[in-house]
Amino acid sequence: MYDLIIVGGGPAGITAGIYASRQNLNTLLITKSFGGQLVRKAVAIENYPGFEEISGTKLIKRFERHLKKQKIDIEKDSVRKIKKLGSSSGEAKFLIWTGKKKQFQSKTVIIASGADPRTLGVSGEKKFIGKGISYCVQCDGPLFFNKRVAVIGGGNGGFEAALFLNKIAKKIYILEYNATVNADEINQKKVRKAKKIEVLTSAMLKKIKGKKFIDSIVFQDRKTKKNIELSLEGVFVEIGSQPATSFVKDLVDFNEQNEIKINPLNCQTKTSGLFAAGDVTDEKGKQIVIAAGEGAKASIFVNKYLQEKL
Ligand SMILES: Cc1cc2nc3c(=O)[nH]c(=O)nc-3n(C[C@H](O)[C@H](O)[C@H](O)COP(=O)(O)OP(=O)(O)OC[C@H]3O[C@@H](n4cnc5c(N)ncnc54)[C@H](O)[C@@H]3O)c2cc1C
Repeated sequence: MYDLIIVGGGPAGITAGIYASRQNLNTLLITKSFGGQLVRKAVAIENYPGFEEISGTKLIKRFERHLKKQKIDIEKDSVRKIKKLGSSSGEAKFLIWTGKKKQFQSKTVIIASGADPRTLGVSGEKKFIGKGISYCVQCDGPLFFNKRVAVIGGGNGGFEAALFLNKIAKKIYILEYNATVNADEINQKKVRKAKKIEVLTSAMLKKIKGKKFIDSIVFQDRKTKKNIELSLEGVFVEIGSQPATSFVKDLVDFNEQNEIKINPLNCQTKTSGLFAAGDVTDEKGKQIVIAAGEGAKASIFVNKYLQEKL
């Protein structure tokens, strides 16, 4: 039986693995693939300390090399189900089943299975990823200094993204599909005061256009049914994300975004011995440095838990 099983090979899971091994925990890391969000899209990282600029693929290769130097077992597989046996106070163990029909046992688990941003599914989206389309305003916003941009999504995510861009871009449109926006009043108030931000409701994005980079977008005004074209260089997608949590539904609580609720002090979920870290959790600030930090924290508290409880 393992001391710890980590689910996920992104920044949170890899960092948790490095810390677990250095604490001499008998650890298994199970991941579908290494890198998670960083390798799925053409991501250039400019905010991870120590690297002024590095591609997501290169950064994750370094993470992976670092992990593989540790004493840790690794399974390339997908976790399908986790179950806990035993009482919360005494001897307990987790059973984990994978897509390759393997079963593992562990005293503790860290879920670090991340999330995927929801995509628009409109013409031009795939073509302009890394060429004007962004799913991360903190990461790519600074590249749009003095440019015209659109934020797709009129929830808090979209409004906060627009306010972030207000210090950088020349003009910001927020496009909301519904007739009213869904952002909190406090964010709406801030946006009303920001002269550069224009909110367009009942706006259905239809197309992203350009040659090498984005030149414009076309949306339909759902009230008049007219198509309108806006010249701009950047599109920020803020329509939520999908945390990877299907395998752990019964053991944790979720917030409205389907993120796992944790105690931010120690990354503990509602089930004793079950921890979570990174983008899969309800922690704010979905960034590599934060996911890695949370992975480290979870591992440290797993060690404490094992020393105290078992
Ligand atoms: C386009 C884009 C650009 C970004 N740019 C930046 C940036 O410039 N700077 C920055 O700091 N952040 C950036 N981010 C955010 C950053 O990528 C995330 O915050 C970070 O990757 C979260 O790490 P994580 O380990 O929590 O999750 P993830 O990176 O999502 O990793 C999750 C891992 O879990 C695995 N997994 C999922 N389900 C299972 C399962 N059932 N069984 C086994 N394994 C599973 C996946 O294969 C993956 O390896 C960007 C994100 C996107 C989408």
